[in-house]
Amino acid sequence: MEGKPPPVDRYGVMGYPVSHSRSPAIHRLFALQTKQNLEYDLLEVAPSKLESAIKRFRRKGGKGLNITVPHKAEVTRLVDHLSTRASSAGAVNTLVFRDDDIVGDNTDGIGLMRDLLVNLKLDLTGSNILILGAGGATRGIITPLLDAEPESITIANRTLPKARILAEIFSATGPVSALRFEDLQHMSSYDFVINATSAGVKGEVPPYPESAINDKTFCYDLSYGLQSTPFSSWAAEQGAANSVMGWGMLVEQAAESFLLWRGVRPDTEKVLKQMTITA
Ligand code: NAP
Repeated sequence: MEGKPPPVDRYGVMGYPVSHSRSPAIHRLFALQTKQNLEYDLLEVAPSKLESAIKRFRRKGGKGLNITVPHKAEVTRLVDHLSTRASSAGAVNTLVFRDDDIVGDNTDGIGLMRDLLVNLKLDLTGSNILILGAGGATRGIITPLLDAEPESITIANRTLPKARILAEIFSATGPVSALRFEDLQHMSSYDFVINATSAGVKGEVPPYPESAINDKTFCYDLSYGLQSTPFSSWAAEQGAANSVMGWGMLVEQAAESFLLWRGVRPDTEKVLKQMTITA
């Protein structure tokens, strides 16, 4: 007689709101491809309920979670161990539930770098990089960007003090400085411009700095969409050499989470194609 099948391992993404997330689709494709038996759900959780929702999910047999906006910084308080990259980012996007403890990790930085260096085959050595935005995503990508040995990283943010805080933290390990959006009009152009604001998601168009872009500038939007994002359209209109949305980063950071949970790294090339075709 056959015994009961083992319970399916449960994962999910917690955010607020979270209905737009493509993570369930990506992880289901990974699971199919690597023949892993798992479920992955969307979990909309308000900030005040975050701690209890994580505890409940774990009690019910959950094995791990992705954590997204607006919980990435807050969740660092709720884990037993932080990985080096999560600690440097001050933000967590992946929780791994072990028998006795919870580990918080951050795969955003490595996800971006894999897209830039492996998928897009870019060389950042000696380049001048401008990052627009100074939120959780920016915190997660600065150290991996510095590892690629750029000449400089400039962070521009609507709220200058937030950019200044990041510049202060990260300038201990590399050439990082902070500016106001308006100040960029007086600066020369950059080799790479990375949009890490959430403005486009909310349909807002900040005063993106035209002077930051020339016909050799590579523009990368961490945001992604069914059509071009406001930033990627704007960058193309300014004559940037390339204007790419963050689908690659999304799939690569997910693959790193999957690796942490399941011990196997999916083939991201196939899934990235499937995501952008079906998007
Ligand atoms: P966050 O912590 O909430 O930070 C948002 C940033 O956007 C802040 O710097 C904020 O400036 C700025 N901002 C928002 N609205 C703005 C506006 N109208 N004008 C100018 N600046 C504005 O968010 P996050 O976690 O850093 O995420 C940022 C974006 O990256 C999101 O769209 C997220 O979806 C995307 N992301 C993508 C991936 C991927 O895998 N592709 C991974 C991570 C994040 P203030 O400080 O002035 O408020």
